[in-house]
Amino acid sequence: MPEPREPANRPVRQLGFWRTPSNRTLPNPSDLIDPDWEESERHWVADYLVHGQVAASWMGVSTCRLCSQSNGSRDLTDGYYLWPEGLAHYVLDHSVRLPAEFGVHIQQRLETLEELERDLSWWCQNSART
Ligand SMILES: [Zn+2]
Repeated sequence: MPEPREPANRPVRQLGFWRTPSNRTLPNPSDLIDPDWEESERHWVADYLVHGQVAASWMGVSTCRLCSQSNGSRDLTDGYYLWPEGLAHYVLDHSVRLPAEFGVHIQQRLETLEELERDLSWWCQNSART
């Protein structure tokens, strides 16, 4: 198993940000649609995306570039990657495929969490009423 990366040692990678008039180097979601992307994998990726921690909340609500639905106003993160909260909608409802490396990252994160060594002693010592 690869060593877990240390989030504090490098900038958080952004994904799911789309082309704007002021930043034309970003991709268009329509170019990343993969109708053959398996629904079970899309659900799995979207589930991970919706469970990120809130990194920022913005005043304006973003709208989906593909169907114009209201699509959130927050950025979410897992400490390694950062994405707009609406990214799960692109994955789930429009089959906008994310880089395979991100899928591998999700898999590694979930495995790491499943394998955490657990310790109940702190809770036992600190939950007693005095
Ligand atoms: Zn949409």
